[in-house]
Amino acid sequence: MKKYDYLIVGGGLFGAVFAHQAMASGKRCLIIDKRPHIGGNIYCEEVDGIRVHKYGAHIFHTDNKEVWDYVNRFVEFNRYTNSPLAYYKGVLYNLPFNMNTFSKLWEVNTPAEAKAKIEEQRGEYADIECPANLEEQALKLCGKDIYEIFIKEYTEKQWGRSATELPAFIIKRIPFRFTYDNNYFNDGYQGIPKGGYNVLIQGLTEGADVLLNTDYFKSRAELDALADHVLYTGCIDEFFDFKYGHLEYRSLRFEHELMNISDFQGNAVVNYNERAFPYTRIIEHKHFEFGCQPHTVITREFPSDFFVGCEPYYPVNDATNTVLLNRYKKLAEELPNVLFGGRLAQYAYFDMDDTVAAALDMARNSFKY
Ligand SMILES: Cc1cc2nc3c(=O)[nH]c(=O)nc-3n(C[C@H](O)[C@H](O)[C@H](O)COP(=O)(O)OP(=O)(O)OC[C@H]3O[C@@H](n4cnc5c(N)ncnc54)[C@H](O)[C@@H]3O)c2cc1C
Repeated sequence: MKKYDYLIVGGGLFGAVFAHQAMASGKRCLIIDKRPHIGGNIYCEEVDGIRVHKYGAHIFHTDNKEVWDYVNRFVEFNRYTNSPLAYYKGVLYNLPFNMNTFSKLWEVNTPAEAKAKIEEQRGEYADIECPANLEEQALKLCGKDIYEIFIKEYTEKQWGRSATELPAFIIKRIPFRFTYDNNYFNDGYQGIPKGGYNVLIQGLTEGADVLLNTDYFKSRAELDALADHVLYTGCIDEFFDFKYGHLEYRSLRFEHELMNISDFQGNAVVNYNERAFPYTRIIEHKHFEFGCQPHTVITREFPSDFFVGCEPYYPVNDATNTVLLNRYKKLAEELPNVLFGGRLAQYAYFDMDDTVAAALDMARNSFKY
């Protein structure tokens, strides 16, 4: 008999939820991660008493009551409500696009005035039948001012390409809210775990054996020999040794700064839309937890090209990569003892609630409860 029922490659949210459910079904689990910590991208690092979202700001939000109740079994959530701001040419605007945004943009006061202004702005663009690129699509949906102030330069920084070279499908719709409500999410539940995401991950993985600084591909045969099954949550193309080529990603670079002032920007998230700023947003972490420290930590987030060795953040779900992904998926289907789950193995962007829901589904199918 092997020592473990499951070798779980990757101690991120997907691996942690699956491990918890496996252990609840009496399975023995070994979690390995190549990083020096578990938690994957939701891991927080404490800097002078402030929890820093090391791999990008994470706000938990969901409409799925099962998922909300599940995560609340491990940690209580605070009442943080995401209300980001956007900075453009010296002015701060509220997001998501709502009456506060419209009144600052156009000095309109009522929903009817705002709707009329948007229609006027869309003008001739509204008649574009098949937008040929992201620029045409955005102009058709929201008109000139919103496109130029909020979308054009921000999106070009994010993707590293001109808006006229980007495909229209990147923007499917632009949500407008005609009330004075700055709550970014429409979901019924949101917040930040009290004590941070690490508390959630610790609760989920309690009882599992964990090996850190352990890259699956450096000791694959020895690790496989330890368990009957593998749950793999790393990059799917790497699992197959990039046999058909590399899947493309956009990456991010983070610059963290500890500052000797109590408050830098008065809000957790401020986007910087202009091209003149090489970063897309500044996160001030203490505001996620209503911190009162005399100092603060901010993080500037720089979009960057992906190259082998840097963190894969956003999949590029275009036609070429989809064809490649489907070829890898075919190979994966031929391996009955290996499960593929999570954002890297699925090559998809998933919010945390979708990640939890998908891991619960996989566990239900595997353990028939
Ligand atoms: C910048 C950014 C911001 C986000 N913000 C939000 C948000 O506000 N709200 C929200 O709901 N969602 C957000 N998300 C999504 C969220 O990060 C994901 O839902 C979640 O992290 C997915 O968990 P995972 O376990 O699939 O992947 P990951 O967290 O990436 O975990 C995968 C783990 O596998 C390990 N691994 C990979 N390869 C190997 C190997 N060869 N050997 C050993 N270990 C390996 C990695 O080190 C990593 O720890 C955001 C994502 C990004 C990129």
